[in-house]
Amino acid sequence: MKIKTITLALPLAALLAVSPLQAGWKGGKPGAGGQGNTGTQVTTALSDAEAATLVFMREEEKLARDVYITLFDQWQHPVFNNISGSEQRHMDSMKSKIDKYGLVDPVTDDTVGVFQNEELSTLYRALVDRGNASLEEALHVGGYIEELDIGDLEEAIAESSHADVVQAYENLERGSRNHLRAFVGQIENLGIVYEAQLMSQEEVDAIVNSATERGGKGRGKRRGGR
Ligand code: MN
Ligand code: MN
Repeated sequence: MKIKTITLALPLAALLAVSPLQAGWKGGKPGAGGQGNTGTQVTTALSDAEAATLVFMREEEKLARDVYITLFDQWQHPVFNNISGSEQRHMDSMKSKIDKYGLVDPVTDDTVGVFQNEELSTLYRALVDRGNASLEEALHVGGYIEELDIGDLEEAIAESSHADVVQAYENLERGSRNHLRAFVGQIENLGIVYEAQLMSQEEVDAIVNSATERGGKGRGKRRGGR
């Protein structure tokens, strides 16, 4: 389950679109609305490890989105449709950081189920196979993905020294806690007790037994699915 390390073996050249020294330049989008208008804002390059993690997280969010799209097709349960939309926003958030820091986006083909990272590709197929077995299994696949994301995001946060990147990860992690609440809520609606799959049971219980969190600029009204 610790698949993040796999990406660290990629050649650095594959991760960097431009020299880190060039990463400080910010191309302005016309009309994008003026953050850092002074033109003097300095962006410090990510470390190799931070860069590898960011590229990985972009595809891990795609894994979540793609599995939920596929399981919605299979089961037509609205929880998968609702949350796949959230995962698309998480993918977009990672893409904006990849662009900001001058990295190469691993998502060159946005087709559902297509990944550059072979571990994520394999995991996609395994999770879809499991989720196709029954709705109960599909909801547990949701729980598995959210537990995986929370663990990887916590490591990513601990590793990063860039406040904007940390904040983006924290937003994703808050989303993952809400998604875990939603999936566990649906499982409990079936009369099944959810057992932690990757995290400790105590950690899962603490999340599930606390209220859905709001936050994020302009998108705080979404509910976790309870
Ligand atoms: Mn996510
Ligand atoms: Mn999620």
